[in-house]
Amino acid sequence: MKTIVIANQKGGVGKSTTAINLSSAIGIKKKRVLLVDIDPQGNATTGLGMDKWNLKETIYDVLIGRRSIKDVVLSTPWEGVSILPSNIDLTGAEIELVSAVSRETRLRDALREIKNLYDFIFIDCPPSLGLLTLNGLVAANSILIPVQCEYYALEGLQQLLSTIEMVRKYLNPALQIEGILLTMYDPRTNLSKDVADEVSRYFKDKVYKTKIPRSVRIGESPSYGKPVVYYSPDSSGAVSYMELAKEVLRCDTE
Ligand code: ADP
Ligand code: MG
Repeated sequence: MKTIVIANQKGGVGKSTTAINLSSAIGIKKKRVLLVDIDPQGNATTGLGMDKWNLKETIYDVLIGRRSIKDVVLSTPWEGVSILPSNIDLTGAEIELVSAVSRETRLRDALREIKNLYDFIFIDCPPSLGLLTLNGLVAANSILIPVQCEYYALEGLQQLLSTIEMVRKYLNPALQIEGILLTMYDPRTNLSKDVADEVSRYFKDKVYKTKIPRSVRIGESPSYGKPVVYYSPDSSGAVSYMELAKEVLRCDTE
């Protein structure tokens, strides 16, 4: 069992897309997967085809201790994948938890109850380094950082790395860097190549060999509530997420 948090405080870098498609791809490879949506935007929830406006209970109820996690997890139409869903209700949690006991460990403690039901748990974080992302970092064995191939790609990463250091020091000493994933890669542009080179110089063998290309199909699939690996399995985006799944599984057995 491994818990991987997908985090980067920048928005729009491909966190939710990666959470949705890596979960689905690993499910297709016969592993049992739980996707934890800890972003009030609920993009991972809708991306898996769940109707976020009509959820009886969400991760919010779990974090404030109103519901047991077992009662909130939902199955999905996608092989091997369950979800702990989220919606705008979660916005309140960040404020309500500020004065709560064990506020940074709520997710970790809840996941302990159901961990043995899964081979992989992925946590999709909001675009900030607040209390919700902190809960993700504390609950995880490792962090996967999507980096969009654009100008200023590395900007902000220093702050993320400092946060990881702080979490290791005070809350979760075992937190590893799982990998750096280059997203929205366009091999025709020098910019993408430059960003890839720079990221590789800095993170060395932590960078996944698989790069996720910019793909129209990836952009379309959320509006159909389908992971791209189901919506358009032969598209370049789907193929690369299946490749990424292989890489993640390979690291797991090493
Ligand atoms: P984040 O969760 O980091 O904010 P998202 O995964 O929601 O980022 O991606 C931001 C937007 O970019 C979404 O509209 C998504 O569909 C789109 N997107 C993500 N990855 C790709 C890609 N490889 N190619 C094309 N569009 C993408
Ligand atoms: Mg997101």
